[in-house]
Amino acid sequence: MRVEFLGAARQVTGSCFLVRCAGRQILVDCGMIQGGKSQEVRNRDAFPFDPDAIDAVILTHAHLDHSGRLPLLAQVGYRGPVYTHKASVELCDILLRDSAYLAERDAAIESKKRQRRHEEPVDPVYTVADAEAAVELFIGCDYDAPWQVAPGIVARLQDAGHILGSAIVELWLEEGDERRKVVFSGDIGRDDTPILQDPVRPTEADLVVMESTYGNREHRSWEETWEELGEIISSARAARGNIMVPAFAVGRTQELLYVLAKFYREWGLHEWTVFLDSPMAINATDVYSRYEHLYDQETSEFYADPSNSPFHLPNLRLTPHAEDSMAINRVSSGALIIAGSGMCNGGRIRHHFKHNLWRSTSHVIIVGFQAQGTPGRALVDGARELTLWGESVRVGAKVHTVGGLSAHAGRSELIAWYQAFKTRPQVALVHGEAGGMDDLAEALRAEGAEVATPELGAGIDLRELPSRSAPAPAPAEQIEQS
Ligand SMILES: [Zn+2]
Ligand SMILES: [Zn+2]
Repeated sequence: MRVEFLGAARQVTGSCFLVRCAGRQILVDCGMIQGGKSQEVRNRDAFPFDPDAIDAVILTHAHLDHSGRLPLLAQVGYRGPVYTHKASVELCDILLRDSAYLAERDAAIESKKRQRRHEEPVDPVYTVADAEAAVELFIGCDYDAPWQVAPGIVARLQDAGHILGSAIVELWLEEGDERRKVVFSGDIGRDDTPILQDPVRPTEADLVVMESTYGNREHRSWEETWEELGEIISSARAARGNIMVPAFAVGRTQELLYVLAKFYREWGLHEWTVFLDSPMAINATDVYSRYEHLYDQETSEFYADPSNSPFHLPNLRLTPHAEDSMAINRVSSGALIIAGSGMCNGGRIRHHFKHNLWRSTSHVIIVGFQAQGTPGRALVDGARELTLWGESVRVGAKVHTVGGLSAHAGRSELIAWYQAFKTRPQVALVHGEAGGMDDLAEALRAEGAEVATPELGAGIDLRELPSRSAPAPAPAEQIEQS
């Protein structure tokens, strides 16, 4: 009876944990390592487990740092179930397919370069066919509905409030007369996040495997964030230019559409045309609009008014096709353009930059995390020009960074989430950088927890921990393959 830490150990990306119990092996998450080429080559490494020996996979949520290596698992022959929330099945269908498409495209470009140097071509890390094969294995679950994963293993998903369908995974393990409960936090959202419910706080566990992304940071309040966003839009209106918002397709885009609808009059949005210029974001928004039963009370009430249909604005234009997207280039004033990619290292936002970034009347609103080395980060750091397709474009636009829109719990919310566990179970911190992780470890120790920050490949023998949780709830009859 063991948990092994095969990814996101003392780092943020590549979540992957192996649970061994009663002769079975269950994988929780199978995520991609992200953060520049030097890191990402590791995604091509062989899995640190025998894929044939895995009985089932449980996926916490659709983000690629949790799901992104599932196509590889399918590629090496895994044909078992991948359990996840029903909404995550749909979002993964979008995200994994796109990830595979980009991998194929990048490999084709690289191969062409190599060909000119008389070198061997490269294969994509995985293909669209691999992504499709992986999605075939998915089994959609609901929150709060326990099921038997394998003999001796019962699982239940709880709402993590991070993105649509995101889940905390509770696992009840039984081996001989030993019984333990492990809770995997997945990525924990913030309280009062637009659209989503607050993260569920389980109260029992013998081991908690917990994310620590913002273990040493607090976020600005939602009120301050909305005020900031409203002021930027008002000042941009006075300048009579365009606004560009690089945004991630899943989560951030839908939050923006929701707050734009909520403050439509207040922020004078009727004077703008809002373009959602990203096929992936349009598809993800469609998924969000079909899961109304997962919205929080405020959002449900807002959309219960027949004049507010989910994620729609009176002046919203969806531009899935390239020619509609290019037509936006002719608009020099009054366009609020939401386009990917979130860090500006690809996607249509770069075309909008080419046409607008040099203008002093333009505004860029950065609403998401920008990794080192990306064009988005360069803008945040005050770059005077960006290179786009080999051409240098001067930054005349005003660049605003709105830091309060995070999908991750801040430090005090992480501590509060742990405090709900009555018996102060042992914690293994994952999904964080050393600084935040060590800081959070100190804070949890002060709460009476024993805290580990396991190295990659380390394991915890669950039989060495006290058993203080109630037995597994009765699993539902049967889960149907979706
Ligand atoms: Zn996530
Ligand atoms: Zn994550």
